[in-house]
Amino acid sequence: MAGLERVPPGVDPTVPSSARVYDYLLGGKDHLAIDRAVAETLLSVAPDTRLVARANRLFLAGAVRYLAEQGVRQFIDLGTGIPTSPSVHEVARGVSPACRVIYVDYDPVVRLHAEVLLADMPGVASIQADVRRPKDILGDPHVTGLIDFDQPVAVLMVGVLHFVMDEEDPAGIVAAFKERMAPGSHLVISHTMAESTPEAIAQLKMATANSPAQSVFRDRTQLMRLFDGFELIGPGLVPVQDWQIGDEEQISLLDGTPHLRVDGGVGRLI
Ligand code: SAM
Repeated sequence: MAGLERVPPGVDPTVPSSARVYDYLLGGKDHLAIDRAVAETLLSVAPDTRLVARANRLFLAGAVRYLAEQGVRQFIDLGTGIPTSPSVHEVARGVSPACRVIYVDYDPVVRLHAEVLLADMPGVASIQADVRRPKDILGDPHVTGLIDFDQPVAVLMVGVLHFVMDEEDPAGIVAAFKERMAPGSHLVISHTMAESTPEAIAQLKMATANSPAQSVFRDRTQLMRLFDGFELIGPGLVPVQDWQIGDEEQISLLDGTPHLRVDGGVGRLI
C-alpha cells in the first residue's frame, strides 16, 4: 500500500492504524504516510522499537508453540495484525496439524489480507470484529463453529489491550472470555508499560492523539489485575524479550532496557 493514493474501503488515510504502524515497524509493506509518520516519531526517541516489535512477535510465537506442545489445540487470536510469518496457525500447526485458529481484528486491511490468505484453509478462520465487544465475538457463528468451549483454548491478547481505554473496561473483556474458558485454558497478554521512557510515552501519545492507535501505558499492578483468575506460568510477567519457557533457544534481540517497554505473560486458568 506504501506510496499509493488509493486505499481500501473503510480506510481513512488521515488516521493512523495500529496494525499498519506495527507493520511498518516490522518491515512490512502495508502502511500509509500517516502510519510511517507515527512510527518515525516514536523511533526518533525510541530507536530500538523495531526490535521490541520483533521481540513481541517472538514472544507470541514462543507462547503459542509452548501451549500447542502442552496439548492446547484451539487458539483465539484477538488483535491479529497484518499477517507476519510465522503466524499463529503456522506455529501451532507446526506442533500439531489438528490445531484450529480463529483470527479477530477490526482493521479492514487485516481483513483483506485474511480473506486472501486463509481462503480454503479448513480449521483456520478470520472475522472482522471489535475486541471491546467480547460477547459479539463469543457468539459469532465462525467462532462457535470452530472453537469447542468445552475443550482448552488459548486466548491471545498480544499487543492489543493497550488500545483499550480504561473506561472501555479491559478487565471486563478478559473476564468475558474467562467465563467461557474450560479447565486447561490459557491467556496470553503483552502490553505497553508505564515503565517506558517519558519521551517514548509522550511522543507516541502526541503522534496518535484522538486516533484508535493511541496506547494506554499500564503498570505492573494493572497488568497483574488482567490475569485475575489465572496463574502465571514460566517466567511470569516480564519484558517480552526476556520471556522464555521450555528448552527453546532464546534469541537475544535487545541489550539493556528498551525505551518502549512491552511486558508479556502467559496465565493458566485456575
Ligand atoms: N497481535 C499481533 C502481534 O502482537 O504481533 C498484532 C498486534 S498490533 C500492535 C495490534 C492489532 O490489534 C492491530 O492489528 C489492530 O487492528 C488490532 N486492534 C486494536 N484494537 C482493536 C479492537 N478494539 N478490536 C480488534 N482489533 C483491535
